[in-house]
Amino acid sequence: MIQIKHVEIEILGGQNQIGGNIILIGYAGQQILLDIGMPLEGEGLTPDPGPVAEKLKSVDYCLISHSHQDHWGYMDLLPKSCVIYSGLDTQTLIRMTRFVTRRPFIGQTWHTFQSEKQLDLGEFSITPYLIDHSAFDAHAFLVRVGGVNLFYTGDIRFHGRKKVLSLKLAQRIRQTRIDLLLTEGTNLSPLQSSGPRKSESDLEDEFVKCFSANQLPAIVQMSGQNIDRLVTIFRACLKTNRMLVLDPYTAFVLSRLHHGKIPKLGDHWGIQVLMPEKEKQWESLGVVSTKVEWMGTEALDYEDLQAHQNYVLLFRYWIGQALATHDVLPSGSSFIYSLSSYYLDRMSHQWGELAPRIQSGDLKFYQIHASGHAYPDDLVHFIDTIQPDTILPIHTTDAEWFQRFGKKILHDGDTIE
Ligand SMILES: [Zn+2]
Repeated sequence: MIQIKHVEIEILGGQNQIGGNIILIGYAGQQILLDIGMPLEGEGLTPDPGPVAEKLKSVDYCLISHSHQDHWGYMDLLPKSCVIYSGLDTQTLIRMTRFVTRRPFIGQTWHTFQSEKQLDLGEFSITPYLIDHSAFDAHAFLVRVGGVNLFYTGDIRFHGRKKVLSLKLAQRIRQTRIDLLLTEGTNLSPLQSSGPRKSESDLEDEFVKCFSANQLPAIVQMSGQNIDRLVTIFRACLKTNRMLVLDPYTAFVLSRLHHGKIPKLGDHWGIQVLMPEKEKQWESLGVVSTKVEWMGTEALDYEDLQAHQNYVLLFRYWIGQALATHDVLPSGSSFIYSLSSYYLDRMSHQWGELAPRIQSGDLKFYQIHASGHAYPDDLVHFIDTIQPDTILPIHTTDAEWFQRFGKKILHDGDTIE
C-alpha cells in the first residue's frame, strides 16, 4: 500500500511484470479500480487470481482502459454491486472475446464513457483520454481525489495511427500538477522489446513492398482485434490493387465497432470474407444469423481463392491446414507474420501444413510488425513534458529505468504527505 495524503493506492497486479494491471485506489471509504487484468505468464493467461480475489470485494467502480485481457480478464471477480466503466468499442470488443471464449454475461452494470468527458464517481473525478495503442479505443485516465492528481497511462504508444492523440495528451496534462504518474514501460525489457523503432506508417510501406513483389497470394498472421494493423494492411492493399480477404472473426469485429474511419464490409469492393463450409459454426454460434446481412457481401470459399490469386488473406489457426488441403497457395506466395517476435514460437504452432513450406522457403516469409507500446525515447519525452512529482512504474520489468528522471519512484509502504 502507498499513501499520498489520505489516498491509498495498492497495486494488486502488473508491478514488475508485463500485464495483469490491477490498481486499487481508496479514499473516504470508497474504492475504485483502474483495470482488472489477468496476468500473462509463460504460455498464456493465468486464470487463478490467488489472494487478489479477496481484495476486490468492496470495490465500488472499475474503469477499464482497453480490450486486452491483461487489463480486464479478472472482471468476473468483481462484486455484483460494482459499476464498470469503459469506452463503447472497448465494451464491444470485450463482449466479443467473452462470447467466442464462451464466458457468460457479466451481471454488473456497465456504463460507457467518452474521451475527455469527466466522470464524477462519489469522491472521485476521472477524465478518460483516448490514446494510441495497439488495442482499439484505448484510454488513459486522470484521477482527481482527496486533493491528489494521479495519471495512469494504461498501455500507450506514440507511433501508431492515433499517435497525435498521445502526443497532444502530454501537452495537455502538463498544465495539471501530477502527484503520481502510473506509467507503463513494456519496451524497457530486452525480452519484450520489438527491435528497431518502426511506426504503423513504416509498416504500410513494408506491406506495399511485399504485396508488390509478385501477383501471388499473401497470408498475414495478426490479431483480429488490432484495428490499426488492419487499416495499415487495407491501405497497402488499396495501393497495390489487392483484394483483402478477412476471416469471419475479424469480419465480425469490424461489423460491430462504432468508430467511422475503419474499413467496413460492403463499403469497399476490395474487402471479402472467407467463409468455407467448415466454418459455418459462425452461424450456428449465433454470431451471424444471415451472413449476408452483417458482411454486406458474399462470402468466399476456397475455390474463389483459386480463381483470384491477387489477394491478401488474414490467417487464423484453421486456415493453415485448409489452404494446404485445397492447394490454393502456389510456390512463391508470401506468409507475413505481423505479431510480436516474442510470440513467434508459440504462434508458429498454428501454421500446420504451411510450416514446412515456410521453413523450406517455398512460401516467402516476412516479419512486419511494430510494437503496441511506447518506445523508450517516446516515454522520456512524455515524462519530461508532464513532470510528475512521483512515478509508479507498472506493466514493466525494468522499474529502475525510471530513476533517470530524478523523480521519486514509489514503492510499497511509501507515504507522501
Ligand atoms: Zn494492451
